Amino acid sequence: MTLVDCGIYLPDEAEADHGWDHLVAALAACEVAPRDIERLVITHPHIDHYGMAGRLIDESGCELWMHEAAGADLAAYQDPEGATRRLSEMLRDHGVGEHEIEELTAYEDWRPFVSRVVDADRALQGGESFAVGERVWTIVHTPGHSEAHVCLWSASDRILLSGDHLLGAITPHIDFRRGDENPLGDFLASLQKIEDLAPDLVLPGHGRPFEDGASRARVVERHHDRRLGSILQVIRNEPHSADEITQEIFGGTLLHFEKRLALGEALAHIAYLREQGDVERIEDTDGGLKYQKVRRKHLSEEEED
Ligand SMILES: [Zn+2]
Repeated sequence: MTLVDCGIYLPDEAEADHGWDHLVAALAACEVAPRDIERLVITHPHIDHYGMAGRLIDESGCELWMHEAAGADLAAYQDPEGATRRLSEMLRDHGVGEHEIEELTAYEDWRPFVSRVVDADRALQGGESFAVGERVWTIVHTPGHSEAHVCLWSASDRILLSGDHLLGAITPHIDFRRGDENPLGDFLASLQKIEDLAPDLVLPGHGRPFEDGASRARVVERHHDRRLGSILQVIRNEPHSADEITQEIFGGTLLHFEKRLALGEALAHIAYLREQGDVERIEDTDGGLKYQKVRRKHLSEEEED
């Protein structure tokens, strides 16, 4: 028996035995006991998909399959002080005030939500196929929401297990904390993979199943296109720091954890625009980083402005 994702580990033992009772009840609804699980495939190592993995392995002896890029998240779970330090440096670079950095980095210790940090028995790369009952599932690497994200695809009946990559009602958070890479570019390329597969039925990691995965992928692409356009609009006349851009786009009254997510999201979009050559980064006189729209000399410039 194969299980895809296993849910969060709750810090409080009194809460359904750390949430374990919820997993057992969900499996029982499918007439499966934890000891029947032979293989656990994790779509990505976020706490709500991976947190219970250690406990399930202890109870069932199952194998753990996860993408090979999961190591960065696992290292952050094991070293929250290091993760906090890297995040603080990144926020400081991008114009966030010192008074706010402390509060924005107060949420980097996820250990209470992970039963124990377990490594994959099989590190996936994408492209692997395996049989479960009558279906053959293929691993599709879909980085973006997490660099280690995978979906599972059954070509015979065009079913996609989409994890958090493609959801029916919301767009997944795209974070930025990986130096100068381009997580939004990765995510949009991963959406294109789903459009090409054109799933008839999508079973997501949150919310209800939905049909026609390709058209949902196109809606999500348009959402990001609009956000890219709004950022260009904000910085078209004068340079702004990432913090200022975040306030313009998401408003100035966000709670700290929301602001942390919004800033990551803004930075992911800015990194994409820089990669496209639409935005350049300049260093302010005080050493902070600002972003401005690249002015291109071409005939339509007057119309554009
Ligand atoms: Zn996630």
